[in-house]
Amino acid sequence: MTIRLRLTLWYTALLGVTLILFSVTVYSALTANLRFQLEQSAALQARNIAAAVIQQIQGDVVVFRNSADNVFFPQVELFASSVGAQLLDSDGKVLKRSENLGDIPIPHHADTMPHILAGQEDRFYYVTNEGAAFLVYTVPLIVDGQLMGAVQLIQSVTTALTALTQVNRYLILGTTISIVLAAIVGAFLARRALAPIDTITETANAITRTRDLGNRIDIRDNASEVGRLAATFNEMLDRIQRLFQAQERLIGDVSHELRTPLTTIQGNIELLQRMAAAPTGGGALRLETASELFKESLSEVQAESERMNKMISDLLLLAQADSGALQIQMAPVEMDTLLLDVYRQTRRLVEHYKGRADALEIRLGSEDQAQVRGDRDRLRQVLVNLAENAVKYTHAGGVVTFSLENRDGWVRISVADTGIGISAEQQALIFDRFYRTDKARSRELGGSGLGLSIAQRIAQAHGGKITVESQPGVGSTFTLWLPAYHEGDVESPLNLKHTVIAGAQ
Ligand code: ADP
Repeated sequence: MTIRLRLTLWYTALLGVTLILFSVTVYSALTANLRFQLEQSAALQARNIAAAVIQQIQGDVVVFRNSADNVFFPQVELFASSVGAQLLDSDGKVLKRSENLGDIPIPHHADTMPHILAGQEDRFYYVTNEGAAFLVYTVPLIVDGQLMGAVQLIQSVTTALTALTQVNRYLILGTTISIVLAAIVGAFLARRALAPIDTITETANAITRTRDLGNRIDIRDNASEVGRLAATFNEMLDRIQRLFQAQERLIGDVSHELRTPLTTIQGNIELLQRMAAAPTGGGALRLETASELFKESLSEVQAESERMNKMISDLLLLAQADSGALQIQMAPVEMDTLLLDVYRQTRRLVEHYKGRADALEIRLGSEDQAQVRGDRDRLRQVLVNLAENAVKYTHAGGVVTFSLENRDGWVRISVADTGIGISAEQQALIFDRFYRTDKARSRELGGSGLGLSIAQRIAQAHGGKITVESQPGVGSTFTLWLPAYHEGDVESPLNLKHTVIAGAQ
């Protein structure tokens, strides 16, 4: 059953039950009230007539017993034509009756006369006759403790009954019309309210059919629950689309990046195959040259395989960071000691990249003491990456300065160089995977453009960040920000992460 139908049924049933209860209550109250009033008025009139008769026969009981002719019987029809009365003697015989009754007898009720003629209190009953309804009220006539007879009053209640039937009809009609209207309006409202859900379903179907993630739901009412659902759905689609595009871009980048070393490896293998097939001696390659070329090719194959291997490990690490599976072993780390380590290692890096250990001047700037909570090896990886970049992108004779400051709850480690610098537009992109300001140069230096994006992810996993300030031709300063840690701080990495991410923004 659809939600729309279920809602309509519930709504209609609820309104129906309420209206029926209301109608039954109104009808019952009205009937009881009307009945009470009719009976009261009949009782009053019957008792008045009885009192008038009693007054006349008091003291003259014998005369009354002999003949009731002298008794003046009030003409009730003067007051109301729907009322008639009759005087009975102590045997129940009719002595006098109001004129409007004519010859028509007042219908009897089996219990009433014996009860009244036994001298007991007033009684009434209802009778119907040819579609008309009457109330008969009987009052005993008791004079000096003796039963002299009874006064019987008959009153038409047809008008009241007709009115009640009419009210009943209106109530039934009103309730039925209201229920039908409620069902129609309810179905319409449910349809209107749930229409965006149909749109969401259609959009989802369209996306599945056409594989076009660019489809969005047209939201008209942002404030309603369904409107919010549609907005959330659109946001989700935005995110999925971004992820999808990022994934496509990544696959493109990865295949492109892997193709270069693979082409080199292939080229070298072909060369080696040709060398193996070439005849030796005579005009062929001399043995020493062949062996030189052989070695060179092999080392190139090895270098390219290593590069591919590193790129694949880097990508794996980034994928882990993306999925939140990056393992960070949180423990207190002395950052000043770690920085000194990296400072020493940088000298070896200078020798590796520049050929001479003194090609660059490596300095230590301000050196506060600081402790953070984090993974020592990962933090070292970040600092080495920053140091390596500083060395790679600074010309011989330049200066690389390391410094550590511990201020306002943040530990800031900066690596400043006097190298080639980065333009403002490129500064926004260098943390993207595979982005390099100068692809050929980076590749020549063994880079793949993944270093900074990994470093940024590691910093973020520690609740920190990496920022850059740079000017082309002047130099760059990369700063790693980490939340300072003091013994006794809350140990939960979640708490730590939460506070810091909020603070970092
Ligand atoms: P790569 O492996 O190419 O060094 P990174 O992710 O570490 O990759 O750096 C991305 C790009 O940022 C580099 O290719 C380079 O263009 C630029 N870059 C990084 N560090 C520096 C620096 N200290 N000076 C100038 N450019 C830099």
